[in-house]
Amino acid sequence: MRYLILSDIHANLEALEAVMADAEGLFDSILCLGDLVGYGPDPNAVVAWVREACSVVIRGNHDKAAVWPEVLRYFNPVARTAAEWTHSNLEETHKDYLRNLTIGPAVVDDKFLIVHGSLADEDAYVITVEDAGNHLSHVGHGLIFFGHTHVQGGFFRAQDSQLVKEISASELLQVSDGGAFLINPGSVGQPRDENWKAAYAVYDSQLNQVEYRRCAYDLATTQRKITEAGLPLMLSERLSLGR
Ligand code: ZN
Repeated sequence: MRYLILSDIHANLEALEAVMADAEGLFDSILCLGDLVGYGPDPNAVVAWVREACSVVIRGNHDKAAVWPEVLRYFNPVARTAAEWTHSNLEETHKDYLRNLTIGPAVVDDKFLIVHGSLADEDAYVITVEDAGNHLSHVGHGLIFFGHTHVQGGFFRAQDSQLVKEISASELLQVSDGGAFLINPGSVGQPRDENWKAAYAVYDSQLNQVEYRRCAYDLATTQRKITEAGLPLMLSERLSLGR
């Protein structure tokens, strides 16, 4: 089975469409690790697409914020403005869908896990090797896909080792039995790893390999839509910087 792994689409329709064109023929099933909405100008089109196309979807913190405004007190001003905009612009049927999304972790085909932030907390950021070490201290072995940081790559601990190492997203990753792997496909709609291109991953469970991928998209159109929607200008600027 080949899984297309998408995370943090953030209502960026142009990035999502570019990823789907780029990934054509590479996958059998689509998984979504949360944050369908928030920041971007196309929440309705993105949620409609995810509902139709994805076989397993878990909730992200921005999906929660778009339907439960009380969560917003934990958000910075820009994220809060965007979440309020999303709340007012999202169709009721899509709000219902987001309200009922599964809270991770979710088990996929008895093979691996998907989470938004971490196993324990959808709002936790796994950024450093230390974060990953804490996270993996509760995990014997196996494969976990996570999002939330918008940084493509991840971490692993080899069998019979205590040492957690960083994974480079520039290489094809061979997942080894007995190791513990935390894999981040990166963000489709708002990358923050100094690369503006949409990020995603393909996991082939037969070969046990993860391929990290990037693709260019029509950034100018997304930026124009952000401006026209009256969303904070910073959300447009950061897309070109990949931050
Ligand atoms: Zn996110």
